[in-house]
Amino acid sequence: MFMIEQIIFIICLASVGYIAYKRIRRIIQNIRLGKDEVIKDNPSQRWQNTLLIAFGQKKMFDRPLVGLMHFVIYVGFLIINIEVLEIIIDGIAGTHRLFAPILGGFYTFLINFFEFLAVGVIVVCAIFLIRRNILRVKRLHARELTKWPLTDANLILTFEILLMLAFLTWNASDTVLRERGVEHYNIAGIGSFWFSGILSSLFEGWDTTALVVYERFAWWFHILGILGFGIYVTYSKHLHIAMAFPNTYFARLLPKGEMRNMPVVTKEVRLMLGLPETTNGNSDTSVSTESADATPGRFGAKDINDLSWKNLMDAYSCTECGRCTSECPANITGKLLSPRKIMMDTRDRMEEVGQQIESGKEAFTDGKSLLDNYITREELLACTTCNACVEVCPVSISPLDIILELRRYMIMEESSAPGSWNAMFSNEENNMAPWKFSPSDRFNWADQLKSGQ
Ligand code: SF4
Ligand code: SF4
Repeated sequence: MFMIEQIIFIICLASVGYIAYKRIRRIIQNIRLGKDEVIKDNPSQRWQNTLLIAFGQKKMFDRPLVGLMHFVIYVGFLIINIEVLEIIIDGIAGTHRLFAPILGGFYTFLINFFEFLAVGVIVVCAIFLIRRNILRVKRLHARELTKWPLTDANLILTFEILLMLAFLTWNASDTVLRERGVEHYNIAGIGSFWFSGILSSLFEGWDTTALVVYERFAWWFHILGILGFGIYVTYSKHLHIAMAFPNTYFARLLPKGEMRNMPVVTKEVRLMLGLPETTNGNSDTSVSTESADATPGRFGAKDINDLSWKNLMDAYSCTECGRCTSECPANITGKLLSPRKIMMDTRDRMEEVGQQIESGKEAFTDGKSLLDNYITREELLACTTCNACVEVCPVSISPLDIILELRRYMIMEESSAPGSWNAMFSNEENNMAPWKFSPSDRFNWADQLKSGQ
């Protein structure tokens, strides 16, 4: 019997490993559809950001209560999964609680700690479900959160509750079997578990065969659930669980508000002004592989392959939390723009192109593009470039980068800027200011003040 279980377990494990490998490879290939960009400057600052923002969840604590609850789920899920290591070894070797004799009393402490976290995860997930579905927090019910994103969030919260319940009831049924001295479960030295101990009373009246069936069911449900969850997250916004770390490390360190120059254009301008062509004009000079001497490619971005790989990684890292949208002045004043939608659209387009490649078709031959088919010009033109979305994002995403690249394409490739913008561009070119006055008239107002006119 145990031998059959072992074989089934190894087949499941290998299948999940294969599916996960294929999916991860697809995600990496999709990110690589973006343009090359070397990001290697300032590693100490990058590690510090990763520790504080990704591991330490620093930005989540801008809203302390929600930050704390999110932290419970994050830590709970990470730490409880240490226990998965034992389950996997048990599954392969046909053993039961292999670590118990090795760790002695510490094993009881560990399981108690895992159970404490499991209860925390259940409570917080239940609160999050209530916030989403009963209190209907506004930022969790915006226009872009159509059926699938809403279902995805609810599914994952429900799934986490079920996994934790399986963990607790598995321990509870196992405890009763151990106390009855049933062979295979009878391991000396394991103390009592606080939380599952309360649930044990539910199982005490069960006969031993029913208990063994339930214990096996809970064990399989827990481990298959975790393995299935591992695959599911790669198709869901919950991919941020993994992507938040590299994404924070590679986040741009450019001061907020500083736009990235195009080296080829900067070179032309500097030549025109008689300045030496030393840098790309940005304070952060190591972020682009685009050389000032390269043949200019497309200005800006029309589709995902015109964006950088970092923009595409951003899209896979988005948690759809909507903090960006709730801070966006354009969105707040009723405009169509939602920075969260910009990220969701970029990810959807990337997935669409990825599927074309997967099915053996040529990529980008579907006649569609990120601009127009996903993101409209009305959305792009509504952006004030205030950077609020970048500032507030808990995983260091920049929706503004994508907006600017798409706008660059509209303006520099299509010359399709609105008339009022074109007037401003000419003023900047001729008057070095957005206004129509000559630079020599700029201080007329001060002269008038002095002369008392
Ligand atoms: S871009 Fe950042 S703030 Fe906006 S929804 Fe995604 S994770 Fe949240
Ligand atoms: S930069 Fe644009 S998208 Fe981001 S918050 Fe400001 S207006 Fe909204």
